[in-house]
Amino acid sequence: SLRAQSELDLMTELYNKVTTERLVGSLLATNTSHNALMIVDIDDFKYVNDTKGHRKGDETLARLAKLLSENFRRKDIIGRLGGDEFVVLLRNVNRAADVEKKMENLLSQIRGIEGEDAFSISVGIAIREKEHEHFESLYERADRALYQAKKDGKDQFIIES
Ligand code: GH3
Ligand code: MG
Repeated sequence: SLRAQSELDLMTELYNKVTTERLVGSLLATNTSHNALMIVDIDDFKYVNDTKGHRKGDETLARLAKLLSENFRRKDIIGRLGGDEFVVLLRNVNRAADVEKKMENLLSQIRGIEGEDAFSISVGIAIREKEHEHFESLYERADRALYQAKKDGKDQFIIES
């Protein structure tokens, strides 16, 4: 439907920025259990575009979107905020170890992609421990962790503590 289409990012078929923010915002407002917010950003994506072409860049975005959809659950919220930046809201995360295991899996799948299609990602993660922490605050913490992951050499995830 038109409504469904307008809520999606057409390139990746994930939720677009507006929808992601609305869904994550309302989930956090009504759900007080532990959740984790991940920001995923492709490493050196400008270089991917410049050396392999914009079309290969688009393919990389679609490939990452598919991997995110395969690695997380239906009840998690997966969106593309824009450019090479994706967000995943993980519901009912009980321990940091759960998130670590999922991330190790995702990263090893991506590291296994060989040749022309190879790429890497950096991920910043914030786990909501305070019941009433809202989207902006969680996002800021995850973004700080992402910045650290980039600074520490990329191709890794960092959980903000
Ligand atoms: P970093 O490792 O620090 O993230 O470096 P980066 O090169 O990935 O830098 P940044 O995230 O700032 O660059 C994102 C690039 O993504 C810039 C833009 O040319 C490209 N881009 C944004 N949207 C699209 C798109 O829809 N398709 C393609 N192919 N490229 C896009
Ligand atoms: Mg990037």
